[in-house]
Amino acid sequence: QRAASRSTKEWQDADSKHFFHPFTDHGGLAKKGARIITRAENIYIWDSEGHKILDGMSGLWCVNTGYGQQALVDAAAKQMKELPFYNAFFQTSTPPAIELAELLAEVTPPQFKHVFFTSSGSEGNDTVVRMVRRYWDIKGQPERKTIIGRINGYHGSTMAGASLGGMSGMHAQGGLPIPDIVHIQQPHWFELGQGMSREAFGLKAAGWLEEKILEVGPERVAAFIGEPVQGAGGVIVPPSTYWPEIQRICDKYGILLVSDEVICGFGRTGNWFGCETMGTRPDLMTFAKGVTSGYVPLGGVMVGERVAQALIDDGGEFNHGFTYSGHPVACAVALANIKLIQQLNLVSHVKNNIGPYLAERFAELNDHPLVGETQTCGMMGAVQLVKAKPGTTFASELEVGMVCRAHCFGNGLIMRAVGDRMIVAPPLVMTRPQIDEMMVLIRRCLDLTL
Ligand code: PLP
Repeated sequence: QRAASRSTKEWQDADSKHFFHPFTDHGGLAKKGARIITRAENIYIWDSEGHKILDGMSGLWCVNTGYGQQALVDAAAKQMKELPFYNAFFQTSTPPAIELAELLAEVTPPQFKHVFFTSSGSEGNDTVVRMVRRYWDIKGQPERKTIIGRINGYHGSTMAGASLGGMSGMHAQGGLPIPDIVHIQQPHWFELGQGMSREAFGLKAAGWLEEKILEVGPERVAAFIGEPVQGAGGVIVPPSTYWPEIQRICDKYGILLVSDEVICGFGRTGNWFGCETMGTRPDLMTFAKGVTSGYVPLGGVMVGERVAQALIDDGGEFNHGFTYSGHPVACAVALANIKLIQQLNLVSHVKNNIGPYLAERFAELNDHPLVGETQTCGMMGAVQLVKAKPGTTFASELEVGMVCRAHCFGNGLIMRAVGDRMIVAPPLVMTRPQIDEMMVLIRRCLDLTL
């Protein structure tokens, strides 16, 4: 109804007049006009011109159970009527937050019995920085402050989140990273490991962590943070040898391992959490996005027993928290969403059905002249672009990505271009025929780009 109340042009004009978008060149957007998305169902979205578009990115990696899930709508409405807000400060709590904490302890790996709630992944990673440093203070090693992240990792957009991440464009604005956060190179075989086997490269890339620990001084290193699969960096799936070696190195030096599960959590990789797919045992785990399938904002940090016990036994007051930590409506929606994931068996649907099928179909793209390699992990996929055959006029792979993304947009597919990789992360409710439909569109966009 609201969508039809103005024309597309009127929406666009009002948008560019008043709405500063995230990660957007506003001068450029004002000239082009934003695409106005007005409704959605299952894995499809519609724009104000009535175009139906297959949402290959689940919104922003979050609408895992798909659009239009009535159970989530009902949970929000019921909670809004009963108790729309109460805080968790000053020794109060609410039933949805308690029940969600209980359920999260059940679906996460066994070392996690406690959760700290936030409203976003960025706030979750800010919380990690404070919690990690608090932990080492309690342990009598306050000099352990340095947190090691990775180049081309993404951990959010707040000062600490963007500092933990290794996005050069973000560091270039605003004096980042903040002190005591350093980075190592990413485990990106196609870019950094050609000429050696993937397995050997995985060990080499993990070895960069040990080198950095020794450079900083092991007694100064607090934690290492990484996404099981780098998402915003371009769905970079590390070699199988990488994460077990990272775990070994963290254990060797006693440093905390933080798994950023904001994208990989809640079934995306074919297990409940990406750390299970990669075989690590993190001390802290950040989540957001898929916990509510994006229907309302919620994030948090799962706190493993090592850190939780220190905070409980010797920590006293942890001076950190948000008005919306444990927001009852967000928690009620998350509860309904996790129960839906369980009812629909979505984790096993990804692991045993659509994940392997996506891998099989993506591998078929390897013969395309624009494709250097493809990678998938569960329901995340990347097409590594190359400059194509001699004779094409592209200046760079980046340019190929720009052109390809434009074709996707025009042909009814949301697929993201990240540098020289085209990526997807579709809703986990996707079916095999819908994957076929997406693959037709992906190949068409690649062909049109040639
Ligand atoms: N961590 C990862 C791995 C992410 O992909 C993102 C967002 O894309 C974040 C953290 C930040 O989450 P938010 O945008 O909810 O602050």
